[in-house]
Amino acid sequence: MEHLWTPWRFDYVTGGDRTRSRLGVPQALSEWPGETNCVFCNMIAAVDHAVNHGMPRAEAEAAAYLVERGKSCFVVLNAFPYNSGHLMVVPYRHEQSLAALPLEDANEMLRMTRRMERVLHTVYRPHGQNLGLNLGQAAGAGVAGHLHLHAVPRWPGDTNFMSVLADTRILPETLEQSWRKLREAMVDDPIEP
Ligand SMILES: [Zn+2]
Repeated sequence: MEHLWTPWRFDYVTGGDRTRSRLGVPQALSEWPGETNCVFCNMIAAVDHAVNHGMPRAEAEAAAYLVERGKSCFVVLNAFPYNSGHLMVVPYRHEQSLAALPLEDANEMLRMTRRMERVLHTVYRPHGQNLGLNLGQAAGAGVAGHLHLHAVPRWPGDTNFMSVLADTRILPETLEQSWRKLREAMVDDPIEP
């Protein structure tokens, strides 16, 4: 089961350079003042950069696989998913722990997670879901500095030999397809007040 809690050890859970180039953000760090050492903060800054430079918002969000932007949190697809529909719910605030978040932000994180649980169920009809936080590198967090909650649809037998032995998973749909399905399903499931 170790694999389940380690697929997000990759540095570029947000798609890294490919996402940046789709958003028109300079690859050279020195050319872009939005750069930080955090992939989540960089991703949101890159989306804002693209929108401020004229890219339609929906197009910029598609480029980053950004499923939703709330007041204090956003939802993004994991660019290296464990299963199709593998999401992350992430606060804008760069904090390492749930306890460090303002209560209001933590509440929105939970409301978004509840919504994503429903939307994943609608879209994928999984037999189970993993909803979870890894706090700190020792707990398996790939991006230890910035809190993020994983939501992963699960099916019996989806921990197959490929993922265990070869660190490779055979996924039945592209990130673009996942993004579109989730966005469409969210229209019918507004966030709770
Ligand atoms: Zn950050």
